[in-house]
Amino acid sequence: MNLKEIAPDIYCLRMPIDVGEPDINMYIFDGEVPTIIDVGINTPEIYEGIQKALKEIGIKGIKQVLLTHWHVDHGGCAERLRQDGAEIFIGKKDYEEWVSFIEGESFEVFEKLAGKVWGVPDKELAAIMKYNKKLLYVTELPKKVQIIPIGATIKAGNTSLRALYTPGHTSGHMSFLEEEKSLLFSGDFLLPEIIPYPGAWLENDQVVSGLPSFLEALNRIEMLEPKEYFPAHGRSRRSPASRSQEMKNQIQRQIQNFTPRSTVYEGALEMSKGEFHPVITFVNLHYVYGWQTLMAHV
Ligand SMILES: [Zn+2]
Repeated sequence: MNLKEIAPDIYCLRMPIDVGEPDINMYIFDGEVPTIIDVGINTPEIYEGIQKALKEIGIKGIKQVLLTHWHVDHGGCAERLRQDGAEIFIGKKDYEEWVSFIEGESFEVFEKLAGKVWGVPDKELAAIMKYNKKLLYVTELPKKVQIIPIGATIKAGNTSLRALYTPGHTSGHMSFLEEEKSLLFSGDFLLPEIIPYPGAWLENDQVVSGLPSFLEALNRIEMLEPKEYFPAHGRSRRSPASRSQEMKNQIQRQIQNFTPRSTVYEGALEMSKGEFHPVITFVNLHYVYGWQTLMAHV
């Protein structure tokens, strides 16, 4: 367990998770309304790690869990904390994605999209599905949640956070801005090392890529000029705006260097030198789909 005070009464708890992702950062706010942003996967190790951190800080119980998004490495452990008395806050569309994942609907949508539209062959598609379904075991849908109104101010610890809508990676991804010190808790929206892969979701019964809304959100957040950002993976960085510009430039370059193939699958495979991997190819399919969407818009 790695616990560090990043600002007065605000702590970063970093823990390893073994679902093929880098360590997860959770942010704990001590004070009047003890709050945690993101909670890791649903395992005893993560739950105990959080309890240990709370004890070390001197917090008796968490009142609020704010989720940047529903993905298993961020929301997995939320139900356990709800059972201890915390209220769970999440963006509306992310809650819907979570329900659809738990009920299996999202698997059906993905299977159809990947097989029929993206051209993923049956065997490889089955391998991706098998891996994705394993993630069901490291998350638990909370029995009750509060939907975060976009732009709402939420008291956390001794300070308050403004809820910002930052979709792209998921359809309802939220980031939280501590306005007094201008600190942005960015989840998987702004990451220091990678560009989060754009999600794909249904909008009016049509599958859309999250990449256009991601770029739009980057522009919006840049204008707020936060001083520093605290991502869900990796180290905190100064100047979120310059990281945002860097990512936008990189996406432009990726699109310029990308030669459309006959299928999204072929494009994704080329990114990993023709080699298939259930996780890497899954992620790359989403990048390629995003680039194609943007190219079609130009
Ligand atoms: Zn993540």
